[in-house]
Amino acid sequence: MDRIYDGTVLIIEDEQVFRLIYRGVLENAGFEVIEAGDGATGWAMIKEKKPDLVLLDLILPELSGYDVLRKVREDEQTKNIPVIIFSVMGADKDVQKALDLGANFYKIKGANSPSDILEQIDQLIGKSK
Ligand code: CA
Repeated sequence: MDRIYDGTVLIIEDEQVFRLIYRGVLENAGFEVIEAGDGATGWAMIKEKKPDLVLLDLILPELSGYDVLRKVREDEQTKNIPVIIFSVMGADKDVQKALDLGANFYKIKGANSPSDILEQIDQLIGKSK
């Protein structure tokens, strides 16, 4: 693959097994990966680290993924950061709510493999060699 990945991706996900899976996939592709296990920590890391992309779960402790997404889009310093939602919630209204709040992509857990997610990340922040 003649694509290069040199950015930082923040994974906000409370289930450690998913963080481990996606960390592995993203690091193999060349990204630096940082993680948060709840929404409040995730939002703090977005403001502090300014990641190139956020992979965001919706059902999270402290702040939900919707709340995090709303904060990202309302803040001048973070509003242009691409956000991919990764959730078990696949109903049309859940997807539409996230897209209305400014999510770039919405992926349903279980229906999408890690390589599907990588493909979306590639579309958003991948660079040609
Ligand atoms: Ca969750």
